[in-house]
Amino acid sequence: MGRTTGPEASRGSRTPFGDALRAGPDLDLAAVDTRSTPAFRGGKRKAARLMAAGAGELDELQERLFAEAKFGGKRAVLLVLQGMDTSGKSGVIRHVAALFNPAGVRYHAFKAPTKEERAHGFLWRVRNALPMPGQVGIFDRSHYEDVLVVRVHDLVPRSVWSRRYRQINDFEARTSESGTAIVKVMLHISNEEQKARLMRRLLRPDKWWKYSPRDVDERALWPAYLEAYEAAMRRCSTDVAPWYVVPADRRWYARLAVQQLMLERLRQLDPQWPPPAFDVEQEKRRVAAS
Ligand code: AMP
Ligand code: MG
Repeated sequence: MGRTTGPEASRGSRTPFGDALRAGPDLDLAAVDTRSTPAFRGGKRKAARLMAAGAGELDELQERLFAEAKFGGKRAVLLVLQGMDTSGKSGVIRHVAALFNPAGVRYHAFKAPTKEERAHGFLWRVRNALPMPGQVGIFDRSHYEDVLVVRVHDLVPRSVWSRRYRQINDFEARTSESGTAIVKVMLHISNEEQKARLMRRLLRPDKWWKYSPRDVDERALWPAYLEAYEAAMRRCSTDVAPWYVVPADRRWYARLAVQQLMLERLRQLDPQWPPPAFDVEQEKRRVAAS
């Protein structure tokens, strides 16, 4: 993974955030500085300005995608968000999803599977939650839980979860072939930052609802989770569906990075306004005469 400080967000098909954050087969999560801000130089206020500057373009790109689908286009974008407890998934979703027209967004949060979900293969509920053509899908957790929490807690035998990496790659390749561009993000916080955030939750009545005593038990399994994350990203960061590791100790950077990754991907898709399905000049005359 490139960790050099690159230029700020740019026009065209350049992908500075994608290049700087992409996970490769030799990913070493422990070596990532979770306070770093790859592809960006500056602080919170500058990041907010850059995010505001990109908002209009992101909105238009999504509207184009939506318009394309109205006339038979099959393309969609899917953001997959993973991260340890308190890594900031819900904050990123709040800030990034707010940049889109809600009519074009499909959000789904993955919890421990229900009885019905457990009766099917692990990808069943994921297929059902995919974005429709023209939509931006947002997965708050995902099928990766089936090789993360499931692996860490031995919820199924090793022989079962170890096959899932290939099954996930096949599934994502087919999904991408049928028109859905997949952007996978791990919000990567440090162990100390998680401790501080859990403690802060306990100090604030308005954050108690987010706290679960179980989070402390999960925290004790930190090394096992890191290992599981690393394995998933090493094996499932593919050309069609790359994984990006976003340092997330600084919330403002995580939000900016996810927005820029989506912007870069949508620019590559370059959705087009559909041509008119009618004679524009003739319709102008009809409206004028009406
Ligand atoms: P939260 O995102 O804080 O609401 O928590 C959702 C919980 O559901 C997390 O503890 C996840 O690990 C858990 N979860 C999600 N998917 C699965 C799964 N496939 N198997 C077991 N637990 C899961
Ligand atoms: Mg939680």
